[in-house]
Amino acid sequence: MAESKRRVLGRFSSSSFGTVDPRKSNGGGGGEKEVPHLPVLIVGAGPVGLILSILLTKLGVKCSVLEKSVVFSRHPQAHFINNRTMELFRKLDGLAEEIQSLEPPVDLWRRFIYCTSLSGPVLGSVDHMKPQDFDKTVSPISVAHFSQYKLMNLLLQRLEKLGVSVCSPSEIEGSIWDRKILMGHECISIHPTNEGLKVGTSYLKEGKMEEREFHCSILVGSDGARSTVRKLVDIDMKGERNLQRLVSVHFLSKDLGQYLLHERPGMLFFIFNPDAIGVLVAHDLDQGEFVLQIPYYSPQQKIEDFSFKDTFNLFQVCEQIILKLVGWKLVNVQVLDIKPWVMHAEVAEKYVSHNNRVILVGDAAHRFPPAGGFGMNTGIQDAHNLAWKISSVLSGIASPSIIQTYEMERRPIAIYNTSLSVENFRAAMSVPAALGLDPAIANSVHRVINSSLCSILPPSLQKFALEGIFSIGRAQLSELILNENNPLGSLRLSRLKKIFDEGKSLQLQFPAEDLGFCYKEGALVAECGEKIWESEASSVHKRDLRPYIPCAKPGCRLPHMLINALKESSAKASFSTLDLISGDKIEFLLIIAPIKGSYRLARASMMVAKEFDVPLKVCIIWPKGSSDKNVNSSEKELEPWKNIIDVEEAVTPTSKSWWELCQMSSNGVILVRPDEHIAWRTESNSIADDLSELKRVFSLMLGHGKFLL
Ligand SMILES: Cc1cc2nc3c(=O)[nH]c(=O)nc-3n(C[C@H](O)[C@H](O)[C@H](O)COP(=O)(O)OP(=O)(O)OC[C@H]3O[C@@H](n4cnc5c(N)ncnc54)[C@H](O)[C@@H]3O)c2cc1C
Repeated sequence: MAESKRRVLGRFSSSSFGTVDPRKSNGGGGGEKEVPHLPVLIVGAGPVGLILSILLTKLGVKCSVLEKSVVFSRHPQAHFINNRTMELFRKLDGLAEEIQSLEPPVDLWRRFIYCTSLSGPVLGSVDHMKPQDFDKTVSPISVAHFSQYKLMNLLLQRLEKLGVSVCSPSEIEGSIWDRKILMGHECISIHPTNEGLKVGTSYLKEGKMEEREFHCSILVGSDGARSTVRKLVDIDMKGERNLQRLVSVHFLSKDLGQYLLHERPGMLFFIFNPDAIGVLVAHDLDQGEFVLQIPYYSPQQKIEDFSFKDTFNLFQVCEQIILKLVGWKLVNVQVLDIKPWVMHAEVAEKYVSHNNRVILVGDAAHRFPPAGGFGMNTGIQDAHNLAWKISSVLSGIASPSIIQTYEMERRPIAIYNTSLSVENFRAAMSVPAALGLDPAIANSVHRVINSSLCSILPPSLQKFALEGIFSIGRAQLSELILNENNPLGSLRLSRLKKIFDEGKSLQLQFPAEDLGFCYKEGALVAECGEKIWESEASSVHKRDLRPYIPCAKPGCRLPHMLINALKESSAKASFSTLDLISGDKIEFLLIIAPIKGSYRLARASMMVAKEFDVPLKVCIIWPKGSSDKNVNSSEKELEPWKNIIDVEEAVTPTSKSWWELCQMSSNGVILVRPDEHIAWRTESNSIADDLSELKRVFSLMLGHGKFLL
């Protein structure tokens, strides 16, 4: 059957979806007429799909992943891992620490460098690391620079340890279908059934296309920017399209790596010269591994212009461009791979459809300009928000409607990050604009050549005209013009300096967004009669670099503070408040101070949690210097409940107490979700009826009541 026809048959409307509770599925192996039946099927084994499968498997959810490619891509793509993602990685079997041990030293990538060639004059150099990035005050871990394909390898190792195997179509036999990454399987259709969803896949076996069906209760589309799942369930994207077309050239050069490592180490190199323009991403200077991004203008310029191989099987055009940007003849350039891509700034209109059964995550739900490295990071954080909710629904703790809170919480974050990335991309463009190469002018020239007037010209002439105009533009970058002695050059150089000095060029880190992003509605509960968030004037300039300010309002990530466990070996090192939450099971956390009213509320919480069948741990935070003698009182106060931990504030550079950090009094009580975001908080002396308040809180948070808007 033709692919387009199959896709059309694969579409369905929401009205045809039944009202089956996803909890009915039994999972793994067997199912209706030998069609494998899984509680969760994930489409797409990119970083987001793999992270989701790790998180779900750790939480005991049976799932498998369909991947249309037969091998994993080695194109490096993402490389900047932000602070929050690294925090999540700390809970994946030491993933964060392993990345830190394998990534290049920070001094080799903390700078962005602007130059006329890699060996020519430096126009500017911007350091993107601040002292607070290293002092562990706001987070127990720092950001990282690590190529996407290397991260994928580490994720696959973790999956293997969890018993998940990667299978090619010919290796798949038998009836055990969960814990598999099914390579070479393309999702081509989705149909609702009485039991959930029927998912059609196609795969190549012994030279023939074959089809295989799966049943699942929940289908997660993590199938990237051109998501088939999104198209099959008719979800549109909203935003700006086609901001820029680029060719991404993955190459190795030991010589270039060693030269830059010693002469001008950096992460990104923005190179502007009369012969070529490009952005070089140094993935690993020591290994000499790079990706060069080259803008191109279609249809006059085509990907074939770059991917053309000569008789020696070499990507000659790309090698020539690399040499023009390097500024001297490199002997050992090996172009590995060329990939075209288009920059969009779009977010899906919906993340969840078909009675909470079809869910989009990662690039399938949002596609940003890579400026600021939000794409993969946002996707991984989507998966983290979703995993505990899926697990809670399938284990019966939460109502299926909690899945809607995934969209309520994550979509506004994607919308915010989209505009932040666009602003950051525009800031990056301010540098060529200051040099007399306004990209807006290049786009207008391109539009004119594409207009009806010029489109009657033969394609070769159009291309000639376009390249001719661009090369006249690039002539502005010649040393003759761009020097301090030339009035125009001097003006341009001083404009450039101002952009760098004022932090108006491309930024790498956004602490207020990376750690301080906050959900305003969702699986959150306001204090009785209160609103969580007063409507705030929306910040006009998102790119204004704001520091992260710890906050303990519902929706925020739990603030990090170093603490020590009491009553355990005194030699035990300090750990983060974030470590109070388990990454391996669904468990909520209640944080209190050791005072009567808060113990009373904690006892009520334990009773209500038991009634709702929700695992709950209570943490009592003692002030610095509390002795073991006092601490014994917690056990007595909370009897017969056992799942409690007494901790003491460790000495910190800020010298703020926990409750000061949270901007609360020591009557404060904080309820934290399994994803380390705060669900509810109160002051224990403000509650009249503990039990009924706690019942209200748990029922709203788990979707048994109406969500608080
Ligand atoms: C040049 C560049 C630099 C970037 N740098 C950064 C950065 O520094 N930091 C950052 O956070 N982000 C960055 N990004 C973005 C990042 O690469 C993406 O956000 C990330 O890859 C998205 O992951 P994903 O798993 O959602 O999708 P993908 O990585 O696109 O994976 C989707 C998978 O689904 C598979 N698939 C597709 N359709 C089907 C189907 N029908 N059936 C089965 N399988 C299917 C695909 O083969 C693919 O393996 C960058 C992007 C670019 C282009």
